[in-house]
Amino acid sequence: MITSQPLAERHDFLARCTRCSQCKFVPTIKSQRHASACPSMDYGQFHAFSGGGQLIMGYGLLSGDVTCSEELEQAVSSCTMCGNCDISCKVNFAETVEPLDSLYALRAKLVADGHSPAAHARTMENIRATGNPEGHPRVDRGNWALGLTLTACDGAPEVMLHIGSQLAYDPDRSSSLRAVIEALDASGVAVAHLGDSEDSSGGLAFDLGYVDDAKAFAQQMVEKVAASGAATLVTFSAAALAAFRAIYPRLGHTFQQVRVLHYTEYLQELVQDHRLRIRPQQRVSDSRVAYHDSCKLGRLSEPWVPRDLQLDNQMGGILTSRAPHKLRFGHGGCYDAPRALLGHLGFEVIELERNRGSSYCCGAAAGVPQALPEAAELAAANRLAELRDANTSTLVSGCQGCTCHLGRNAAADVQVRDLIDLLADALEPVTTTRR
Ligand code: SF4
Ligand code: SF4
Repeated sequence: MITSQPLAERHDFLARCTRCSQCKFVPTIKSQRHASACPSMDYGQFHAFSGGGQLIMGYGLLSGDVTCSEELEQAVSSCTMCGNCDISCKVNFAETVEPLDSLYALRAKLVADGHSPAAHARTMENIRATGNPEGHPRVDRGNWALGLTLTACDGAPEVMLHIGSQLAYDPDRSSSLRAVIEALDASGVAVAHLGDSEDSSGGLAFDLGYVDDAKAFAQQMVEKVAASGAATLVTFSAAALAAFRAIYPRLGHTFQQVRVLHYTEYLQELVQDHRLRIRPQQRVSDSRVAYHDSCKLGRLSEPWVPRDLQLDNQMGGILTSRAPHKLRFGHGGCYDAPRALLGHLGFEVIELERNRGSSYCCGAAAGVPQALPEAAELAAANRLAELRDANTSTLVSGCQGCTCHLGRNAAADVQVRDLIDLLADALEPVTTTRR
């Protein structure tokens, strides 16, 4: 079984990059203004900053033609690991190049060779010491649950909740979080949470190139969920969802029979099962809202399936894997549930030009805000400019990382809302019987 591959083992993938530059643009361009797929390229304005450019640098490092310079480190650090280049590349080259896995491997090589940026190294120290990138005290991680009372459950919970550090340490959102969990409890769902024993998912460690740390976090997370006996794991964190579904299998860890869902997917499932109702909001200030597909919630949470990477099957002019598998191509992530919930709330959902599998990253991921804050701010500005062209001033996302970062960078006349805040007062249990 192939899991996360070192860069040297991806030599052939690097070599197959044709330098076509398609990865700089979304596959279906609707306007020149919003044609870009790559926030890193938009920042650096030089080929090395793109997905394909990083592959060339990786190839050069392997052959010894290139050494790790400050410029190379900067180009790699400006990449948000958003995966948009991966989707665009596959339009022409299917699985022949798969830039994203090479970008992960390139970062891991730089860490192994001692070239991790200082800001990333500090972030990793925080994650190791406290379980979160900001270094908030570990003992405060469960403070969001103060005052929360859940119905006692006999035996294993139906659902284990994973909160994620962004939400767990956000005092402005803890009442919304508690309201959603209380609605689940009132609907008869036996839920449990890990309180302050919840740790990092390991997703950010993997993005930064610290593969061994990511493996250790993945293993302990899988063990905690297995020990709980829960049949379903529901996370409030888009980044954790991406880690659970797509990074853990790359590291050789899976939750086996445990279903892994984002909280929006689970709420939508309860609505469809008539266990939960969502009251339409009567007095919404702006009934037209644009939905921002977070990279982590969307394309990066598409399940990743280990496969035989021997590409020796000829299909037309394209090499394909011997083992049949579903190509990650921008269609299997969490796209529909948040939109459906917004519909239940009474909003008209406006689609941005770059949406779903080709959504433009807000810039808040993979250590970019820590290492190159100006690159993260430029990405947010680019995304918010798209909102203005959609003729609405309200943007909603299901990812707390996106809403916080976009909210910090939004003009005064733009509202950036987190879906959990919109849902908090609108959930109404239909049944209260435990199954
Ligand atoms: S990564 Fe793919 S899309 Fe980008 S330049 Fe290489 S072959 Fe072209
Ligand atoms: S992962 Fe995102 S930021 Fe990085 S090169 Fe690809 S499109 Fe650009």
